[in-house]
Amino acid sequence: MGKDERVLIIGAGPAGLFCAYRLIEAGIPVLLTDRMTSPGRKFLLAGASGGLNCTHRGTPEELSLKYYGNEALFKGLLSDFSPANLTNWYKTMGSDTFVGNGGKIFTKLEAPEILKHWLEYLNASPLFEFKGCCEFTGFGDRPGLFMFRQGGQALELEADYAVFALGGGSRPETGSNGAWVNAFQAAGIQVAPLRAANCGVQVPWSQYLRQRIAEAEGEGTASRAGATSLDIALACNGSPSTGEVVLTGYGLEGSGVYSIGYCIRQELDKRGCCCLTADLLPGLSARQLERRLEKPRGKNSLSNYARKVLGLSGLSFVLFKELQPEGDLSRIKNLNLTVTGLRPLEEAISSAGGVCLSELDENLMLKSRPGCFVVGEMADWEAPTGGYLLQGCFSTAYRASEKIIDLLS
Ligand SMILES: Cc1cc2nc3c(=O)[nH]c(=O)nc-3n(C[C@H](O)[C@H](O)[C@H](O)COP(=O)(O)OP(=O)(O)OC[C@H]3O[C@@H](n4cnc5c(N)ncnc54)[C@H](O)[C@@H]3O)c2cc1C
Repeated sequence: MGKDERVLIIGAGPAGLFCAYRLIEAGIPVLLTDRMTSPGRKFLLAGASGGLNCTHRGTPEELSLKYYGNEALFKGLLSDFSPANLTNWYKTMGSDTFVGNGGKIFTKLEAPEILKHWLEYLNASPLFEFKGCCEFTGFGDRPGLFMFRQGGQALELEADYAVFALGGGSRPETGSNGAWVNAFQAAGIQVAPLRAANCGVQVPWSQYLRQRIAEAEGEGTASRAGATSLDIALACNGSPSTGEVVLTGYGLEGSGVYSIGYCIRQELDKRGCCCLTADLLPGLSARQLERRLEKPRGKNSLSNYARKVLGLSGLSFVLFKELQPEGDLSRIKNLNLTVTGLRPLEEAISSAGGVCLSELDENLMLKSRPGCFVVGEMADWEAPTGGYLLQGCFSTAYRASEKIIDLLS
């Protein structure tokens, strides 16, 4: 196969890098490009705090439920390239994995080590080339022609097969700035607007609560961030949260919020605000609460009483008073909490929106541009944190790569 027959992969995040890996493994030459100087910036960020949550335990059926609205597609994608396939692949990259809290699967090696092995594998192949600082700017005026900018110069690249793996729009400092949306729309390809997903939410706390949160955070330093992490269960329209909820000056953060983020965004779109129910004592049943509140309060102040009979103190008590100013402790498992908005896309962990799935065939090839595939976060699917995002990126990359291998063999 000559040089011009290389598969062009645009975007060197995990989805693009995995396509490169599969194609090189199958003996197919690849040109991988990225607007940044080096690949995998967001992958490195994903693994930056406390290990890389690379996938999640469960069957394809179970996991597919996390890909809201796209369960059927993901059931197939996850059957073809499952969490077991992914953990085996991490083994070939030198990393064992282990199951952590709630079925989350983590790599034993840190993300930089894994990326190093990955790039070593690719760079060792004469079939592989990486072009950095090479930004996709649009489709050319004939099929198979793609426009770039490199070092201030326009550049045209030709390829019969191209994989787009340009990511979403969160954390633009990693290279994924979502600017590709304009180029795709200009080519008549439908793209759902990129929006913040797996992000914090705005709650208009009183000044008093904001002050208390700032104190608990150690006056704004990260040194006591754990002090603002509360044992709270939230629910949005009956969907319960799972995971940690962290109080911040602007509202709430943490995997507990992200786990119901899809539902919160839908409510915000419909009503302009979203009413969550908050259970400040999730470890206590309603019956247990009732029993404990049978104990007379006597001369105790409300805060003393709450501390003694319910173990409620500190920031949790302040939050209770914020949400239930009358101090009715019998309502502590069913409080209303109003979310008024989402944090900005730039801060989010991932983005919703992207190339509409109706534009893609079952192999993730653009129907209007045969030979062009779309993989990873830039396609319009979303999932909560917990390893589902990276699994989705690998499974979509696998599907497109297998089709290209099939077409070229
Ligand atoms: C703080 C943080 C923590 C996370 N933690 C986890 C986790 O624990 N588990 C999990 O599953 N997921 C996690 N994620 C999400 C995960 O990192 C992403 O879903 C994943 O990186 C998306 O992969 P991708 O290849 O689709 O896109 P990206 O990783 O975003 O890569 C896209 C690439 O395309 C390049 N690009 C963009 N535009 C152009 C252009 N016009 N021309 C050329 N190149 C371009 C970018 O520079 C980038 O290198 C986390 C994300 C963040 C921000």
